[in-house]
Amino acid sequence: MKNTGIYVHIPFCASRCNYCNFLSIGDADAEVKEKYTKALIEEIRAKAEGKADTVYLGGGTPTALSLLQILRVIDALRPYTDKNTEFTIEANPKTVDKHYLYKLEDAGVNRISFGMQSTNDGVLKKLGRTHTYADFWDTYNAAQDAGFNNINVDLISAVPFAEKEKDDIHRLINISPSHISAYSLSIENGTNFEGLTAVSDEVDRAKYAYIKEELQNAGYEWYEISNFAKNGKYSRHNTAYWTRKSYIGVGLGAHSFDKEKSVRYSNVTELETYLSEENKIAETTEITRTDAMAEFFFLGLRLIRGVSLHDFYDEFGVSAESIYGGVFDNLLKHRLIHKEGGVIRLTDYGVDVSNTVFTEFIQSN
Ligand code: SF4
Repeated sequence: MKNTGIYVHIPFCASRCNYCNFLSIGDADAEVKEKYTKALIEEIRAKAEGKADTVYLGGGTPTALSLLQILRVIDALRPYTDKNTEFTIEANPKTVDKHYLYKLEDAGVNRISFGMQSTNDGVLKKLGRTHTYADFWDTYNAAQDAGFNNINVDLISAVPFAEKEKDDIHRLINISPSHISAYSLSIENGTNFEGLTAVSDEVDRAKYAYIKEELQNAGYEWYEISNFAKNGKYSRHNTAYWTRKSYIGVGLGAHSFDKEKSVRYSNVTELETYLSEENKIAETTEITRTDAMAEFFFLGLRLIRGVSLHDFYDEFGVSAESIYGGVFDNLLKHRLIHKEGGVIRLTDYGVDVSNTVFTEFIQSN
């Protein structure tokens, strides 16, 4: 498959955060990490083809690998990248020092994403994060010194035990990263937070509205439900997901999408199986034409600019109205979408209840 994107999953973390429901492992030893590095490199060589528009090393915490290991992974990716490739790595504060960051930059990584989550040390501790706000600040400055100017910072809001959450967004605006991802805390079964009472939907929406307004006033463009960028520095990698471009996923539990063949694949999620089996694919899902049409809307509507009905026609050869006319009428009646100039986009209220809107496209199939 010729890929527009390559996602590489590195599942290791210093320890498990209390809210984490990602595929992450907090207690891997050096031998396992070495075996995993070798398996990743083999999988990259077996699956990648052509030049990727974007590469994303995510996790887990990719920088939980040693510098030499991560440089070997980057080297294995090099034949599939060029000077235009957006090359992102996720990193947690305190897992990298100046030397590590210089080496990443020198190896061609040009975007870095830090999991800051909060600026309050008490909140960070209760979330189970292994760093303080000062650690974040040190690492952020080191990244800038190393030459990174395309930096994302993740923020978690609507934390039930947090006080003065507004301080987070003001501090972040002062730091002025080129990209901010702001998510509400999601309380999931099977995590240490299972049973914790989430903030009410009303409070959640009010906090989100505040963050959105403050960031927009500070010059950030709100371009996706949870994402804000300055000077057009969107995440090209994630935008490719929302616009249904092909990508390959490498590593434990990673997903791939082959648009030409209309198939999604997912890798095994058991570490032992991943390390020992040659075939890493656990599941292959055929995306029918009907699935693809629904995806066009429920992925594309995440973008604030909305989706073009002309693009829908170009891709599927039928008008979206002929398929989703009833859904559009219903969503328009409830003021959940705007429809103008051949573009459909969510209203502010539609963003607040976006999952309900997306379900409409799935259920009408
Ligand atoms: S750093 Fe991220 S992936 Fe790792 S345990 Fe924490 S939330 Fe999970």
